[in-house]
Amino acid sequence: MSDYDYDLFVIGAGSGGVRAARIAAGYGVKVAIAEERFYGGTCVNIGCVPKKLMTYLASYAHHAEDASGYGWDIRAESLDWPKFVARKNDEINRLNGIYENLLKNNGVDIHWGKAVLSGPNTVRVGDKEFTAERILIATGGKPVFPPIEGAKEFGIVSDDIFYLPEMPKRLVVLGVGYIGLEFAGIFNALGAEVHVIYRRDKILNEGFDEDVRVFLQAEMTKQGITFHPETNITKLEKQGDDILVHLDKGKTLKADQVLFATGRKPNSEGLGLEELGIKLAKNGAIPVNREEQTDVHSVYAVGDVTDRVALTPVALGEGHALVDRLYGGQDRYLSYENIPSAVFSNPSVAQVGLTEEQAREKYGDEIDIYKSDFRAMKMILAERDERTFMKLIVHSQTDKVLGLHMVGQEAAEIVQGFATAIIAGATKADFDRTIGIHPSTAEEFVTMRNKVG
Ligand code: NDP
Repeated sequence: MSDYDYDLFVIGAGSGGVRAARIAAGYGVKVAIAEERFYGGTCVNIGCVPKKLMTYLASYAHHAEDASGYGWDIRAESLDWPKFVARKNDEINRLNGIYENLLKNNGVDIHWGKAVLSGPNTVRVGDKEFTAERILIATGGKPVFPPIEGAKEFGIVSDDIFYLPEMPKRLVVLGVGYIGLEFAGIFNALGAEVHVIYRRDKILNEGFDEDVRVFLQAEMTKQGITFHPETNITKLEKQGDDILVHLDKGKTLKADQVLFATGRKPNSEGLGLEELGIKLAKNGAIPVNREEQTDVHSVYAVGDVTDRVALTPVALGEGHALVDRLYGGQDRYLSYENIPSAVFSNPSVAQVGLTEEQAREKYGDEIDIYKSDFRAMKMILAERDERTFMKLIVHSQTDKVLGLHMVGQEAAEIVQGFATAIIAGATKADFDRTIGIHPSTAEEFVTMRNKVG
């Protein structure tokens, strides 16, 4: 019998924390979890899940428009925004319940409240103190406001956008990462006037293939979004019902809402870490070694609070692999290579593997490029001027597919399957001998024959 109250005490019932807690408990060890806000963390409550529901909401506007080209008389004339928000909240409540049951059914003790480390093996939650052989921090991250006058007073971050009482008719977005482009696409499709402000000359960042960045920007512009490159916001102020958005290029925009999508910060404040001797990175991230251990070896951390790859499936994978090693006798580590990801913009982007720029840096001229740019079949009768882009990056010496990129409808659904092929080491010849599923958009990936670079 252990001398501790728990073998594992997890702080944070988000993606990584819940996965680690329930899998560890399944191995028969004594586990507790502390949470102060909601079951499921950012992803379930104010991230991936409600965002994806909003992309579905927005997609109906286009479906209704497209249907007329096929002979239907369907109109998406008025949106009952409060109804959507209420339905979305119901679904999130349902998911909160599922997360709670997952923990309870696996025998995890739940302690509600803010948890603070009071020693290398002790956690305080409210007026109770618990001992644990190991403590796992999985407290995630939160959006940050940039230091712009009036930003906090008049602007919002992604946490707020899911609970707006009214749908904004005029939206200004600062930032062209995942969050900025996803909400720009959603509100544009819902009929809002959308302006996107960013300080670079291209949207997305260098983690995305340059062709993808250029193609997506052109498509989103066609959809009606106004992009303001190499621009920043200097100040927000209120004038009646309008928010005045002053730009450094002298222009002023009027908005109903201004979304700051300028990155996220690890949630490591007030946990008692520095008092314990755990030195945090400048942005608050908790540094960990390969075993997910902090400087104090009984204290571990996974997920966004470590600021490595801030994606839900990565947090899940880190938490799961950790407890498989600690309690399941498995020598299993998460691979950070070939992590597929998607931006649920409109059209969406999905990718796995290297960008052309990364591949050229690694392999020089030993790179073959295949590209395809076409109008998907569905768009023709719909008379929608929207194109799809696909790109393969192949290592000419080994024939291995190093990178696969797509901009188009259902990109995430299509790229997920190809990600397995790439992780398995698929070659271009393997792609070529794969029979296409016809007619589909996805088949284009297995019928690319002409090298373009
Ligand atoms: P990103 O880091 O992706 O993008 C931040 C954007 O804000 C960039 O365009 C950045 O510009 C800009 N920016 C940052 N600071 C300033 C500033 N002071 N002034 C002007 N612009 C600024 O962050 P997000 O907030 O979009 O998303 C955070 C993370 O959440 C993502 O990186 C991703 O890991 C995760 N996420 C994943 C999703 C998915 O998988 N679909 C969806 C949503 C989030 P610059 O590049 O010039 O610094």
